[in-house]
Amino acid sequence: MENKSQKRIEILRHSTSHLMALAVLELFGNVKFGIGPVIENGFYYDFDLTGSSSKLTENDLPKIEEKMKELIEKGLKFEKKEISLEEAIGLFKKLNQPYKVELLEDLKKYGTTEINSWSLISQSKQIPKTVTIYQLGKFIDLCRGPHLKSTKEIKAFKLLKIAGAYWRGNEKNPMLQRIYGTAFFTQKELDQYLINLKEIEKRDHREIGKNLDFFSISEELGAGLVLWHPKGAIIRKIIEDFWKKEHEKRGYQLVYSPHIGKLNLWKKSGHWEFYRENLYSPIKIDEDEYLIKPMNCPFHILIYQSQIRSYRDLPLRYAELGTVYRYERSGVLHGLVRARGFTQDDAHIFCTYEQLEKEIIDVLKLSIFMMKTFGFKNYQVVLSTKPKKSIGSDQIWEKATQALKNALEKTKVKYEIDPGQGAFYGPKIDIKVIDVLGRAWQGPTIQVDFNFPERFDINYIDKNGKKARPVMIHRTVLGSMERFLGCLIEHCKGIFPVWLSPVQIYLAPVGKAHWQYTQKLGKELENFGLRVWVDLARETIPYKIRKAENQKIPYILVIGDKEMKSKTLNVRQHGKKKLKRMSKKQFIEKVLKEIKNKK
Ligand SMILES: [Zn+2]
Ligand SMILES: [Zn+2]
Repeated sequence: MENKSQKRIEILRHSTSHLMALAVLELFGNVKFGIGPVIENGFYYDFDLTGSSSKLTENDLPKIEEKMKELIEKGLKFEKKEISLEEAIGLFKKLNQPYKVELLEDLKKYGTTEINSWSLISQSKQIPKTVTIYQLGKFIDLCRGPHLKSTKEIKAFKLLKIAGAYWRGNEKNPMLQRIYGTAFFTQKELDQYLINLKEIEKRDHREIGKNLDFFSISEELGAGLVLWHPKGAIIRKIIEDFWKKEHEKRGYQLVYSPHIGKLNLWKKSGHWEFYRENLYSPIKIDEDEYLIKPMNCPFHILIYQSQIRSYRDLPLRYAELGTVYRYERSGVLHGLVRARGFTQDDAHIFCTYEQLEKEIIDVLKLSIFMMKTFGFKNYQVVLSTKPKKSIGSDQIWEKATQALKNALEKTKVKYEIDPGQGAFYGPKIDIKVIDVLGRAWQGPTIQVDFNFPERFDINYIDKNGKKARPVMIHRTVLGSMERFLGCLIEHCKGIFPVWLSPVQIYLAPVGKAHWQYTQKLGKELENFGLRVWVDLARETIPYKIRKAENQKIPYILVIGDKEMKSKTLNVRQHGKKKLKRMSKKQFIEKVLKEIKNKK
């Protein structure tokens, strides 16, 4: 969400959630407010109407929309005020807003409103003296902002649905009512989105993933944790094998690291200080505290530091499919796309400043190659530069930023610059892949880092025999295996190309007389490395064809008398009505060729 237009639309959507809250307040009177954040493609707000006589239903949405339009016309201002924490608690008590008071009390106690069970124990956050409140009409909200100036700027919005949601995602808390909506800068964009929405629902990876038996996420296991079922695991393995092969070709070395490491490592890296809300509680082993890893970087640094490195060793490129765990609020979890445990296709490159440009070029090329291979033709590229608060000299920043720019220009990649939006430790390139519906998904990221080499005191011996500081590149190409599969499912609607399909060929014998022949054929195909399902279920052929179509299997072969006698095959390709008759040899060659070409 780094780029500018993304931020603008988020401000618009978040401001629209305030407007919706005001409309609900005006229509229903006694409303208690939860929170109203921006989410992927829209916003929501949580309401508690138990104090008022009514309960929200879908029928109320048009009424609320009407009210919102009326309020837009008034050109209401979003008015910001900074008040003390104590004043704010008093104010929201007076307004009878217990949820806001709860947030403020947390802020007072822990310095954060985003608590998970264990951060309750750690009181290391700074307690703010003041908070900001925003007033829109008679609706006052506790909010960090920013917002639009006036409701007049809201041109195109739509309320989409109502759902129940526990306060703070905890089932021990009251159930609130959540209204989802979205907003765009123009009516045209909104209309297009609403048309797409139906298609988006049909492509929901959570539904498809369930129907095709790819994965599951259950309450019993724990929110945000993914079980990969055999069929999903086949896809993942193919992607992983391909990924490893392509990395080894490009001079990466594969490494493995454990799931936990001493807390001290994370103190050294700064994660403990700056990233604590996303970390899980430390665990004690013997006398030391350990942390479940949120990132792989410190482990790769330790591998680098296991030997004295010379300039002749650089660049060193360590790649790992490393599983990490991060705390995400339950409200933002979304299938595979936002999970609490996920496997990054991670790599860290240690190089000299002189080598930076060439390394970035290679990562860019690899990224584009990967995206193309998986069928993503369009992408957006953003280069984020030095922020106000940063470490490293201007000279180093200049050098690194120039290296990134040169790399982008030499690879002829069109890009936007997002000034001041780099991480405090270095500039970066973010690539968003655009799916068939025009939606942007987080894709490859390439991040230059001056910070870790300092913090961990990473060295190499330069040409003059002196200690020198290398620079680090953190990069992922697919992001995470989970998110990438989610994105891929929605992009291809579950209809995977042959090379990725868990089952490539479905064999349906017409009757018992054809079983033996079909099984033999199945074995033959399997000997070519093809993934085959010989279905001996006693079902009609039309039923079986429907079944295989629903399972999105690329090829369906019905085997009857004719096939047995003529030794030819009647080939039905997924989604195509026309059958093609061909010899077994022709068919095998065709499929193998498609797999080789990653079709
Ligand atoms: Zn706000
Ligand atoms: Zn890293």
